[in-house]
Amino acid sequence: MVRAVGDRVPQEAVQSLSKGIQLSITVVGAGPAGLTYALRLAELAPHLELLVLEEHGSVGWPPHCAGLVSLATLNREYPRVWRRAVLNTVRGAVIRSRGGSEVLIDAKRGVAAVLDRPRFDQALAEEALRRGVELRLRARVTGVDCSRGVLRLREGRRASFSLLVLATGALASLNEQVGVERPSALLPAINAEYELQEPLEREFVHLYLDSRLAPGFFAWLIPLDEYRARVGLAAPSALRARLRLLEKLDPGGVGLLNSRRVRVYGGYVVTGGPISKPYTSRVLVIGDAAGQAKPTTGGGISILSIAARLAAAATAATEGEWHLAGPRYHEGFKRILGREMRAMLLARKVLSSLNDAQVDALLNALSEAGVVERLSSTSHMDFQRRAILGALRAMWREALANRLLAPALLMGLVRALLG
Ligand SMILES: Cc1cc2nc3c(=O)[nH]c(=O)nc-3n(C[C@H](O)[C@H](O)[C@H](O)COP(=O)(O)OP(=O)(O)OC[C@H]3O[C@@H](n4cnc5c(N)ncnc54)[C@H](O)[C@@H]3O)c2cc1C
Repeated sequence: MVRAVGDRVPQEAVQSLSKGIQLSITVVGAGPAGLTYALRLAELAPHLELLVLEEHGSVGWPPHCAGLVSLATLNREYPRVWRRAVLNTVRGAVIRSRGGSEVLIDAKRGVAAVLDRPRFDQALAEEALRRGVELRLRARVTGVDCSRGVLRLREGRRASFSLLVLATGALASLNEQVGVERPSALLPAINAEYELQEPLEREFVHLYLDSRLAPGFFAWLIPLDEYRARVGLAAPSALRARLRLLEKLDPGGVGLLNSRRVRVYGGYVVTGGPISKPYTSRVLVIGDAAGQAKPTTGGGISILSIAARLAAAATAATEGEWHLAGPRYHEGFKRILGREMRAMLLARKVLSSLNDAQVDALLNALSEAGVVERLSSTSHMDFQRRAILGALRAMWREALANRLLAPALLMGLVRALLG
């Protein structure tokens, strides 16, 4: 199934690649960013030659993602694709602190889908292939010569490009070669899938704010169905030890310790916000490689789907004058997502400054101030700015009232203001 994508690679693409024949636009990375860009561009400008190079032998593998994506994003950006990859839908989240405070956010309707991420990426690839995009698997790009427009691949192969799109993920291995900064604040993360002994309430995600598990971040449990869950955390070190502790603590009472862990995978979540200039005169950088993930959660699909659409639109609009594509793409991104990203960065910095007792106080403050009810009924998983400002206001009032939160809030704000 997975390899079908590779099997369907048009032979001309392979041949032209090995001969080094000019192909107009080359995308490096067949993750959701690269594939969304390719699909959007193929829709907008079907006459353009478009090649996607992917280092692995199959699209979507190895997986690294928890696969939770808002229905708003999926219905808006991927209406033909996401149902082929959905495992579950959820309507809210239970947030717990180490001290035992608990907040339930319940939208009372499905708000997010839990995806089989490899299947999602493959469905995107199938759509792109249907639109005439050429996809080359096992094609790792090792070097870029921008002045000559040449890519170096393994085994001495080369390919030329007139516009290059880098969608290589969080490690952004080629950014520096093209003179673009790498994303900051990468956090190592681990994800494991469990078969549970006891049935689970499948409509709620669980988030744990506990510095023993995920200092400055959070651990999660995402139901795949009644008897299976994806469990993970992000932390600077000791990921497996922390995962074992999470099993032992079993904060949601789902019997993790006695459950069968069926597979473990990992990656890096991007929490530092977008890089300042994701382009050069003939390169566009999109997705995790451009820091286009939510700083609050590391969730990337909602942000990169918009960025890839903007990058494709800029490419189509500036055809042949590629030096104009980057500024156009970046202006669009800042206009649509700039304020949102800044608010999420502020929230991330404040959250990272809190100790466990302060997190406890914050959850209580949010409950008492009625913020939770408002979040449940009005908040948006992707556009979080209004919810963040509401939460910060409640936190500020709590800080004035009991002083516990004041130092962390002030420190977070100062750090945010200092950049
Ligand atoms: C543990 C974890 C949980 C997450 N959970 C969620 C979640 O629940 N919801 C959500 O929205 N986001 C989540 N994310 C983030 C999400 O996975 C990323 O934002 C998303 O995958 C980024 O897509 P991308 O296409 O930019 O990069 P990637 O998905 O990383 O794809 C990059 C592709 O480029 C290829 N590549 C890299 N270098 C080269 C090269 N030199 N030559 C050829 N190919 C190359 C790679 O093999 C890969 O296929 C999570 C991330 C992690 C680590």
